[in-house]
Amino acid sequence: MKTGSLLILPGDGIGPEVMDEVCRIIDWFESKRDIQFDKSFDLVGGAAFDQYKTPLSDDTLAKANEVDAILLGAVGGPKYDKLDFSLKPERGLLKLRKELDLYSNLRPAQCFDALSEYSSLKSEIVSGLDIMIVRELSSGSYFGEPRGIKNKENGERYAINTTYYSENEIRRVARSAFEIAAKRTGKVCSMEKANVMEVGVLWREVVQDIRDKEFPQIELTHMYADAGAMQLVRWPKQFDVIVTDNLFGDLLSDCAAMLTGSLGMLPSASLGNKNANGKLKAMYEPVHGSAPDISGKGLANPIACILSFSMALRYTFDCKREADILDKSVEKVLRNGIRTADLLQKKNKKPASTSEVCDEIIRELELAN
Ligand code: NAD
Repeated sequence: MKTGSLLILPGDGIGPEVMDEVCRIIDWFESKRDIQFDKSFDLVGGAAFDQYKTPLSDDTLAKANEVDAILLGAVGGPKYDKLDFSLKPERGLLKLRKELDLYSNLRPAQCFDALSEYSSLKSEIVSGLDIMIVRELSSGSYFGEPRGIKNKENGERYAINTTYYSENEIRRVARSAFEIAAKRTGKVCSMEKANVMEVGVLWREVVQDIRDKEFPQIELTHMYADAGAMQLVRWPKQFDVIVTDNLFGDLLSDCAAMLTGSLGMLPSASLGNKNANGKLKAMYEPVHGSAPDISGKGLANPIACILSFSMALRYTFDCKREADILDKSVEKVLRNGIRTADLLQKKNKKPASTSEVCDEIIRELELAN
């Protein structure tokens, strides 16, 4: 029997709605497969502020540090817009990432055949696409010092940000990308700007060095990030795993996301170092936010959150077969034409509700079991 501990943080807006459906999927796996989770639930974001006057309590953070994986819904909403910056719901999420030192952000861009016409690119370019962008999450231009908007002596303002990477920061995200690639097709493309940035020169050297010494079975290529952006929209299927820094990863992963259609379809994972149980610290969450415009109406697409749980099965709990049948069940439901409103092009077709989509996924899981 496989076991593991899971902290579930539904959050705000549609977060609890989509997480309710994920809990039904978890219940199904526990009742039908040889797997049990030690589950605990807590508050994060606005919901935590309402209860504890902070978007992430110390107690919740302590629990997050102990579990094998965290599953988070979404945070934020207009009710909290006027709060001080330090109390905003999003600070809870950022604090979790920072305190757990989650430095490797995995964003898959997967285009289910049934949805290929939703992409802004031609169907044959995206159909069957399955790539993974590994973005460094804890350093680089978003954290480097010095930074700020300052005044020159003549009163003119200037702004400065610093792109900083240590060898160790590059090494650990490179290892993460190679480990992920070893579970996929074994191909990694590293992207930087070694032609114009010293950070890029060091990045390229260190990534190559880790590959040569520790992962000789991986096929590694290097590409300048601007050329990589062009190739992503020209012929994205040439890539399997892409590893890149925080800033380029932010841009490239959003670009890759749009190859696949709706925001309601995109899962993500953020990984750190090993915990006491020898598992990587990990938080899984959909890419979308709390979607206040549709919250409470049963319109939210639960698939991004369900696929985030599938990533947890694959990358934390070592349950590849379970992750595969969950992904295939989602694909089958889409192929059968079951869609929430965000995936409907014809306005005269009635959309499926959040829970109806999950009913259908469970029906497919039963058939596949
Ligand atoms: P959003 O992702 O919440 O919504 C953008 C658009 O996509 C909306 O029209 C929404 O209805 C739609 N959408 C999003 N998820 C969907 C789903 N699962 N099914 C169907 N449609 C979906 O982004 P936003 O509107 O810019 O932000 C709303 C709030 O969420 C803000 O407070 C923001 O700070 C927060 N936010 C949180 C996260 C997070 O928790 N990771 C990420 C982004 C934004």
